Amino acid sequence: MSEFGSHTFHRDIADTFLPKDVNRHLIDVTLKKTKIHLSHIDTIAEALKKWAVSQGATHYCHWFQPLTGFASEKHDSFIGAFSGQQLLKGEPDASSFPSGGLRNTAEARGYTSWDPITPPFIFNRILCLPSFFFSWKGEALDFKIPLIRSEIKLEKAVLRLFKFLKISQASIHVTLGCEQEYFLVDRDKYLKRYDLHLIGRTLCGAPLAKGQQLEDHYFRVIPPRILTYMEEVEKQACSLGIPLKTRHAEVAPSQYEVAPIFESSSVAVDHNILLMELMKQTAYQHNLACIFHEKPFAGINGSGKHCNWSISTDTGFNLFHPTESPHTHLFFLLAITALLDAVYLHSDLLMASIATPGNDYRLGGHEAPPPIISVCLGNMLTELVESLSFGKKFTSHPQEKIDLIITSISKDYSDRNRTSPFVFTGNKFEFRAVGASANCALPLFVLNSLFAHQLDLLMEELEGGRDPYRVMQDHLKESKNILFSGNGYSQQWVQEAKKRKLPIFQSSSEAIPTFLSKKAEKVFEGVLSKNELKAYAHTLQEQREKYLEIEKNLLQEIFYTGVLPAAKRSKLPTNRAQVAMKNLQNSPLKGLRKRLDRAREEIDTIENHLEAKEWPLPKYRELLFFT
Ligand code: ADP
Ligand code: MG
Repeated sequence: MSEFGSHTFHRDIADTFLPKDVNRHLIDVTLKKTKIHLSHIDTIAEALKKWAVSQGATHYCHWFQPLTGFASEKHDSFIGAFSGQQLLKGEPDASSFPSGGLRNTAEARGYTSWDPITPPFIFNRILCLPSFFFSWKGEALDFKIPLIRSEIKLEKAVLRLFKFLKISQASIHVTLGCEQEYFLVDRDKYLKRYDLHLIGRTLCGAPLAKGQQLEDHYFRVIPPRILTYMEEVEKQACSLGIPLKTRHAEVAPSQYEVAPIFESSSVAVDHNILLMELMKQTAYQHNLACIFHEKPFAGINGSGKHCNWSISTDTGFNLFHPTESPHTHLFFLLAITALLDAVYLHSDLLMASIATPGNDYRLGGHEAPPPIISVCLGNMLTELVESLSFGKKFTSHPQEKIDLIITSISKDYSDRNRTSPFVFTGNKFEFRAVGASANCALPLFVLNSLFAHQLDLLMEELEGGRDPYRVMQDHLKESKNILFSGNGYSQQWVQEAKKRKLPIFQSSSEAIPTFLSKKAEKVFEGVLSKNELKAYAHTLQEQREKYLEIEKNLLQEIFYTGVLPAAKRSKLPTNRAQVAMKNLQNSPLKGLRKRLDRAREEIDTIENHLEAKEWPLPKYRELLFFT
């Protein structure tokens, strides 16, 4: 293993390259999110260059994530000076990035500005400076700016709660650990499946005779070729300071998961985006392809990115740690109350926050869980919330034991619920509906903002002198409607959710217009302006529409240039398929998803009847069973 963080400008490295007082200042800036002293900036730039060059770097770049969500970079060589001004600000011609109308082509100025919170790192001989991206008017053109703004808002609200309870805490940060699911396929086959290659999803492909029915993939022994790949990723991740911890085979064939140890949220987001890039590049070198689409293959599981979210103080105190007697900790009870208000009242905004084009096929598709947000708290906390909502006393039960042959172990307070989109797991919430390809800065800033907003409203009542238990009772009576611990994939739940009047969408992208609502303006106060909200909604919608249009064109190409000629050679009937393709071609945007599915069915039928050597594309079996 290489040394952890050896390719990052972490505190200890900075200490050897920077004067002590400057490094101390830099640490302060990252911890307290205060402004950097401009008098130090040239010194920092010089140290960064010196370190990077000593590590073999030839170029630097502002490494940022525009509204596409992906990492972006423009390299500049170290020839000549690298001044503090160059460190602080870059200026890509930004008119070619999505801006949702915040900029038109004639106003091309967009700026990148160094964000010192994530340590600079060297990737492929480039010094990468994690950065913000914003317009000439100072409006956010990325998800990171609102993420940091939402953390500042959340910190204020939580410190207000602590002050009210007379608990002294200096600072708060949001923690995030992303469990990243992905598929690995053989690269040669992948390149021949150009739908998979171009948009990450197979638009046709007859179902596997044997897929995941036997439940023999989850946690299976990792094949040596894949293990070698994982080890390489881990080695590189280690030098980049990404604390990878677990790996395992997932439910679908050729599906895997990797998870790091949690970090402060904006760092965790940057590390997740960097990790995805690293995984793609390393796969390429191993003649593999790494796929992050939410639903690359029909008939087997799709991929998510479970966002484990919690709130900590600088002294390591976790706001959502229930301890053995949660009912005695007012801060915990109030935090849970604010959280349930947030999810109950704004589940539509949470749904909008996970609307990636691929997630529409993972949530709400015909073989996917319905897109309804609910919260699973586990047995004990559900009972606790029930008691509070009735104004009753709660008595905690001691942890039970399970007797095993040679020992006995404590039983967890609740079982796991794999079907819930938002689950309490011990001392954190796991937002499971986030898609594998997502930049989780978006769902995270939404979650932070909702929580901060609802906590502020609670605080107004408390500071106004109301009894905390009465306040909680009033809120929980309503918000406990969001609690559900049954099977979230079942039709009964859809019926039940209807009764409870919870928002139900046909797909996640249907929720996007919620960003334009009046309440969104209130909830995102201090995080996103009305203009920015409009731009985000517009961009998400536009991306979705462009993806659909590309899918339509690709499926036509696959059909007319490959499938139809092959079927004709074999004298298979093609009438129905041709009608389906015509319907697809003439489809209005709204009906596209259904017609894509219809056309697919016909193509899959042809595949099933065609002699295997005549089929023009790699089959599911070849793609998914190669190790
Ligand atoms: P599981 O969800 O399967 O129980 P883990 O306990 O390993 O698995 O947690 C999954 C992810 O949650 C990991 O990335 C882990 O670091 C992260 N995590 C654990 N505690 C916290 C926390 N307090 N805040 C944010 N993420 C956390
Ligand atoms: Mg988990």
